[in-house]
Amino acid sequence: MAPRGENNIVVVPNMKLEKVFCMKGGNGEASYANNSQAQARHARSMLHLLRETLDGVQLTSPEVPFTVVDLGCSSGSNTIFTIETIIKHMSKRYEEAGFKPPEFSAFFSDLPSNDFNTLFQLLPPIADPGVSMEEYLAAKGHRSYFAAAVPGSFYKRLFPCRSINLFHSAFSLHWLSQVPDCVVDKQSTAYNEGRVFIHGANEGTASAYKKQFQSDLSGFLRSRAQEMMSGGSMFLVCLGRTSVDPTDQGGAGLLFGTHFQDAWNDLVLEGLITSEKRDNFNIPVYAPSIQDFREVVEANGSFTINKLEVFKGGSPLVVNQPDDEAEVGRALANSCRSVAGVLVDAHIGEELSKELFLRVERKGTSHAKEVLEQIQFFHIVASLSFA
Ligand code: SAH
Repeated sequence: MAPRGENNIVVVPNMKLEKVFCMKGGNGEASYANNSQAQARHARSMLHLLRETLDGVQLTSPEVPFTVVDLGCSSGSNTIFTIETIIKHMSKRYEEAGFKPPEFSAFFSDLPSNDFNTLFQLLPPIADPGVSMEEYLAAKGHRSYFAAAVPGSFYKRLFPCRSINLFHSAFSLHWLSQVPDCVVDKQSTAYNEGRVFIHGANEGTASAYKKQFQSDLSGFLRSRAQEMMSGGSMFLVCLGRTSVDPTDQGGAGLLFGTHFQDAWNDLVLEGLITSEKRDNFNIPVYAPSIQDFREVVEANGSFTINKLEVFKGGSPLVVNQPDDEAEVGRALANSCRSVAGVLVDAHIGEELSKELFLRVERKGTSHAKEVLEQIQFFHIVASLSFA
């Protein structure tokens, strides 16, 4: 049984992050499924880059299934849209080359606590395999691929050797496998005192995060290099930053380093939690620079870089009425909660977590205009191929 700490809350040791971490499941107000329209919009604005990658994938024998994987799929319709886009594009390429398209296999992969049930319920029914591929693709509301879920961390092996044609991953690789131990060690110079994220933190904390990111990405590439078929490609998108300085985390920094941070400070000031309790919480996110990312790909050496660039995604918030300050506050709180709520709940319990996000909402409401204008996400987009 997991140990119980202060207030009878289950203490989640750092190394167990991959066992508990996920986006908020279901389809309630703060669920990821209901708070990922911004990611959907950003992904759509990068479709031309995805298509460029798909054009570079080597066509294999149409007699053998073509296998596509979405890593960090979460639960919601974004991953389904992506897989459909990829399969339609690849089918067209086979047809243009004069072949009947192969059968497609799609793996939806995420950590084991991901809400795969909600995702499976969103999948359209599979079209009757007796129909032709043209009918398959034309049949609206049906899917033209075999689906399966693969639970596990993408920083490790997930698939058999040489079995995958295409890997896709969107808005996931900035999640670290763990908060570096030294960041929560009071004796260490990397101790992140007074903060819950590295935005504005000291150099020691920032370099520990950078090291963790680079070692995680290196594990990711090592695993994919074994799983990928020769001639295959990867299309990777994660949060990124334009500054060389890792303590300036850009949009992610503003999301987790301002009102969210102040809400934690309020809980301390109001005596609801100790300052130590706050300092022991850190968001395991690192928005890399192009250089941080490139160093790891080059050191790995298995992949050719076709494209590696920073792309302006825009605001992570979707609001119907930008002048409605209360709606902006709610959108900010829901957005933070849909991605970090599970971690906050595990750290301080659901009651205090509710209090925390209520404060995020109030702060977002009273600073609505700046929230909308200033929190802008940049993404690293990488198109890599495997010889
Ligand atoms: N790709 C989706 C979801 C992005 S949310 C979209 O475009 O909307 C980020 C996802 O990454 C979450 O579901 C989270 O559980 C997953 N994730 C984070 N770390 C992971 C890891 N180490 N292994 C697998 N999935 C991970």
